[in-house]
Amino acid sequence: MTDAMSSAPVTTAIPTVSARELPEETLLVLVVNSGSSSLKYQVRELTLDGEDAPDPVVTKGLVERIGVPGSGVADHAAALAHVEEEIAAVIGDRRLAAAGHRVVHGGERFHAPALVTNEVIRAIERLAPLAPLHNPAAAQGLRAVAQRWPDLPQVVVFDTSFHQSMPREAWQYALPDELYTEHGIRRYGFHGTSHDLVTGLAARHLGMERRAFDGVILHLGNGASATAIRHGRSIDTSMGYTPLAGLVMGTRSGDVDPSIITHLITTHGYTAEQVDTLLNKESGLLGLSGNADMRQVLEAAEAGHRASRQALKIASYRLAKYIGAYHVAVGGAKAIVFTAGIGENSAPFRARVLDRLEPLGVTYDPARNMERGDDPRVISADASAIPVLVVPTDEEMAISQLAHTVVEREQAWPLQD
Ligand code: AMP
Repeated sequence: MTDAMSSAPVTTAIPTVSARELPEETLLVLVVNSGSSSLKYQVRELTLDGEDAPDPVVTKGLVERIGVPGSGVADHAAALAHVEEEIAAVIGDRRLAAAGHRVVHGGERFHAPALVTNEVIRAIERLAPLAPLHNPAAAQGLRAVAQRWPDLPQVVVFDTSFHQSMPREAWQYALPDELYTEHGIRRYGFHGTSHDLVTGLAARHLGMERRAFDGVILHLGNGASATAIRHGRSIDTSMGYTPLAGLVMGTRSGDVDPSIITHLITTHGYTAEQVDTLLNKESGLLGLSGNADMRQVLEAAEAGHRASRQALKIASYRLAKYIGAYHVAVGGAKAIVFTAGIGENSAPFRARVLDRLEPLGVTYDPARNMERGDDPRVISADASAIPVLVVPTDEEMAISQLAHTVVEREQAWPLQD
């Protein structure tokens, strides 16, 4: 540890395989997720074909409180200096082969992951009005990595790009057209890396070609979104211009009547910033029940806490409505897929949602619903009109593999000495 960072414990490296030898015939890919004041990273080991090696997570960590006075970490470049030390301590002489970065907003410019150039970094910065906290941080992270590892090819993977396939009737709001043409106000959608990965895994698990897959993917974590998939591509999604829209989330309201906002401002003296905090940080499960964490909401409901029971009813009802709508949007879903923290782990919440899908002929098998595991699995009853799956997501894995794909396609591997 250097003196500069002795004031507060800002980094948490969790080496997972420091004791084992890293074979030369694999590739080490750095995955970076730069938040507004944090930087999460993983070093992952891939085969030369871009598949996960056994035990692929070589090391991972988190730098927090970036830019917070007194933290000793002035910016993302300083954070990367810590990360470099932590990585070197684990990988020794081995060199990184590529870096993959999660970037929240790719606007309409990015329909797919891209190899990073100066022009790409500038484009990400130009999109900052759409993601004011996240895109500038991501651009800083990209520049910092380029400075630390000048020969390292970098790939950006966008939360929005998977949803660029949506048709205009799905992404355009019923607002005057200038709001779109002049200010870029439209539905973009988020969690795209996860929806994309899970679509492919679900199709494979059902023995279908991806392009034959029509279904509804439910990414239910702290943030939550549903996506309508037709022919393996996103045709609609519940998040919108920002990740606030759609489902009931941990602390976010999801859909509300927009007039509530003007009413709070004009009649109840809220500032715009207070409304923003209310909707993003104080609503959802937290606002309804006092707990943002689904596990705690379920426990409290079980113990008879009325507000928690009501929160579960509202969240499951809203989700079931989206599933019904997207069943229509995709022309008849052939699968309903749960993923992310709640979707993968919470059998009681899944049951509450699935109980509402009887009109679609969906029935689930209680024993299958209770099973746990890291692999995709079917939880519906054999007689269910639509199969229901649980498919674990892994955004870091997806980012590392996409980085491999793009670097391979662009023939941008670093020269070995
Ligand atoms: P994520 O953002 O994907 O990490 O998901 C976080 C959410 O998953 C939180 O609401 C957690 O309460 C929820 N979660 C994680 N594990 C469980 C579990 N075993 N049962 C219920 N909810 C869970």
